[in-house]
Amino acid sequence: MEMRSLIEESSKYLLNTYNRQPVVLIKGRGTRVYSLDGKEYIDFVGGVAVNVLGHCHRKVVVAIQKQAQRLIHVSNLYHIEPQIKLAKQLVKHSFADKVFFCNSGAEANEAAIKLARKYSKERFGDDRYEIITAFGSFHGRTIATITATGQEKFQKGFEPLLQGFRYVPFNNVDAIQEAITHRTCAILLEPVQGEGGVNIPSDDYFKKVRDMCDKNDILLILDEVQTGMGRTGRLFAHEHFGITPDIMTIAKGLGGGVPIGAMLCTNKVASAFSPGNHASTFGGNPLVCASALATLETILEDGYLLEHCKNMGMYFLNQLKELAEDFPVYITEARGLGLLLGLQMSVDCNKIVSNCLKRGLLINSTAGNVLRFAPPLIIEEPDIDILIENLRDILENYYDE
Ligand SMILES: *Cc1c(COP(=O)(O)O)cnc(C)c1O
Repeated sequence: MEMRSLIEESSKYLLNTYNRQPVVLIKGRGTRVYSLDGKEYIDFVGGVAVNVLGHCHRKVVVAIQKQAQRLIHVSNLYHIEPQIKLAKQLVKHSFADKVFFCNSGAEANEAAIKLARKYSKERFGDDRYEIITAFGSFHGRTIATITATGQEKFQKGFEPLLQGFRYVPFNNVDAIQEAITHRTCAILLEPVQGEGGVNIPSDDYFKKVRDMCDKNDILLILDEVQTGMGRTGRLFAHEHFGITPDIMTIAKGLGGGVPIGAMLCTNKVASAFSPGNHASTFGGNPLVCASALATLETILEDGYLLEHCKNMGMYFLNQLKELAEDFPVYITEARGLGLLLGLQMSVDCNKIVSNCLKRGLLINSTAGNVLRFAPPLIIEEPDIDILIENLRDILENYYDE
């Protein structure tokens, strides 16, 4: 079918929940994706921080093929080999002792919220259920996670929201101190706010938050759904800050493109859950775990990819900073950690996103006026140069086009 008629059918048959770009993508290899009408694009969206190894990485494809032939799904009523192997690797390479598998970031956060509440109620009594989250955060689209999300635009129209959440400005230690009461059971934060516009905290923020949690016996939950799996140049972003959480959620980059989420935690917290407390039919099924295992092994293989991500991230950020200096009227700030980068704009981002698409570049915008870049971690300098040159050209001719 022709691309244009397929796009017409898209709006005819699909719920209108996305502002989609006018292109149908049918194939991907590495940092490149291809549309139905045969155009090639460099992918700086990366499935929104999903495709850490690029598209259709050989090892991931082979792992999925092999597992699909062997066993695609069995219930969690039985032991699942790829799930056990994946959990073991995640534990080996993180602070965590235990893992629960689900299918998305929102579900991982749901699990974290439930676990934190149960743990705290059992230990400190029924009154202890409140969770502090940050303004500008994003934790998912279920009722509980839009409530956790400190942005009204995601909550509006879906009230009544869940009870027991409190919001504080991100990167402000005093605000957390003031918000803590005898009811506080956990603090839930992203190490770097992704959807909120790539907001990076000061170096000592998380150390101070961790201290406050320890002093008050409060759980620290880190939402690493976007920042995890090497995105920032470390396997998990909190490693930059020299702290560990009690609970961590991951998803996006975990599966190499298949839907999988996970909640990781320490033994201390894990003990609050027993059979029947939480479950997911598809959670950790053989197929997605085989894919995630291949993805994790490839990320960790020789430390090359994380080092590469760090280097490319620094290169990319420097290029964005130069661009910001050259176009102060259009760009207010360039920021980033590893290969999660943002360009805070003072002009319409949609126009730039569409223009990039025409030029064979996938980028996206978030938080209204931030261009966000989350390319595969295998990206190389020449691809970054192409993007920067095109952004330069677009901004030079911004009012002509
Ligand atoms: C994307 C995202 C989520 C939600 O993940 P889904 O898989 O879309 O449910 C939660 N938290 C953060 C930080 C995210 O970036």
